[in-house]
Amino acid sequence: MGIKQYQGAGSMDTFEKLALIKHEMDVEVDDSIPGLPAGKKESFSGKDCEDPSEGLPISMVCLPNGKRMPVLKSLLTSACERNCNYCAFRAGRDFRRVTFQPEELAQAVDRLTKKKVVDGVFLSSGVAAGGVRTEDRLIATIEYLRRKLNYQGYVHLKLMPGVEFSQVERAMQLADRVSVNLEGPNTNRLHAMAPQKVFIEELLQPLRWVEQIRRERPGHEGWKGRWPSTTTQFVVGAVGESDLELLQTLAWLNQNVRLARGYFSGFSPTPDTPFEDRTACNPWREHRLYQASFLLRDYGFDLEELPFAGEGNLPIDVDPKMAWAKANLSEMPLEVNKADRRDLLRIPGVGPVGAKAIMDARRKNNLRSVEDLKNLGVPIGRAAPFILLDGQRPAVQLGLWN
Ligand code: SF4
Repeated sequence: MGIKQYQGAGSMDTFEKLALIKHEMDVEVDDSIPGLPAGKKESFSGKDCEDPSEGLPISMVCLPNGKRMPVLKSLLTSACERNCNYCAFRAGRDFRRVTFQPEELAQAVDRLTKKKVVDGVFLSSGVAAGGVRTEDRLIATIEYLRRKLNYQGYVHLKLMPGVEFSQVERAMQLADRVSVNLEGPNTNRLHAMAPQKVFIEELLQPLRWVEQIRRERPGHEGWKGRWPSTTTQFVVGAVGESDLELLQTLAWLNQNVRLARGYFSGFSPTPDTPFEDRTACNPWREHRLYQASFLLRDYGFDLEELPFAGEGNLPIDVDPKMAWAKANLSEMPLEVNKADRRDLLRIPGVGPVGAKAIMDARRKNNLRSVEDLKNLGVPIGRAAPFILLDGQRPAVQLGLWN
C-alpha cells in the first residue's frame, strides 16, 4: 500500500516528495534510538502490506521519559546551497531535489497524525537563500501546524546555521525540542567536513541563546508551559577526530548549555561527495561513544576517568564502564552495603535504578548474598568481580562472569 493510499486526497505530490526525501535521507540519526551497532537500529514498521508508513521518512524517537514514538522526519527542502563534504544533500551533488511549501508540509503532518501513522515531526532543511530565510520557512511551517491546524503533537525543530536570536526565541515557543548539528567537535574538525560552516558564530551561538532564554525567561512562555530541550549531533569518523575531542565538547555542552543529549552519527560515505572514498565508521565506535556519553551525563563520571587510549580513543572491544572497573575495582572491590550512590553507579551492571534499589534495600537489612542482589534486578554476572557483600567476594562461578 504505502504512499499510494494517500492518492485521491489532492496531496499525492506531497507524499511523493516525502518518498523522495526518504530515498536520499539515510545518514542523519539525530534522536532516532541511539546506541545500537549498525543494522540493529530500530525503525518503524507495521505489517508488510498494510504499513501506512511504507515509503515515508518515519523514524522512532526516544523521549526523555523513555517513551518511543514514530515521527515524520523531513526536510522542508532537499535543495542546499552549501557543500558539506560528507552530505548527500550538498549543492554539488546531482539528484532530484524537492521543496515543500510550509502549509503543504504542515498539512501532511496533520494528515499522518490523524491517521495515527506518526505522533510527531522532526523538521529540518537544506539551506536555501541563507540560514535566516530558511529558518523563517521552518518556523512558518510549525506556526501553521500549531495555530491553523491546532496541532498538539511532538515537534523537534532544527535551528539553521546562522539563525537570529529572535528566531531562536520563536522556535522555542513552538517546539518541544530544538537542535543544532555541530557536526564536528571544534572549529578545525568542522572546517574539514563543512568548510562553509562557522563553528562558534553559526552553530554554538544558537545553543547558547537557547540556554540564555531558558535561564532568563519564565517557562510558561514556552510551548505547553515549558522551554524545549536541546540536542546536537556529531558526524563520527569522517575527519580523524578522536573520541576525546568529541566527548570533551559534549561534556562542555552538558555543563554550559544543558544539552539533553548528544547524538553520534557514524560516518558512512555517500557516492558523489568528496568523502566518497573514505572509510565508514566502525558502528561499535558509535556505540562506545553513546555509552561514554551516558557515563558523563548520568553516572557522575569525569572526562578524565574515561579509559582513553594513546590517541584519545575508547577501546572498541569493551564497554567504557567495564574497562574503568577492571582498571580500578578488580583489586579494590566496593562494599555494596557501604558505597555511596556515586560509587554504586561505578559498578558494572548497576545504573541509577539499581543504585536506588540497593540503597533502599540495605536500609532494612545488609545485602549478604548474590540472591539478594539478583532480587533487586542487579545483573550479578557483570557486578560480581568488583564488589564485596558484607566483606566477602560474592560466591559466583567464574563462568558466570568471565
Ligand atoms: S548545510 Fe546541511 S544540508 Fe546543506 S550540505 Fe551541509 S549538512 Fe548538507
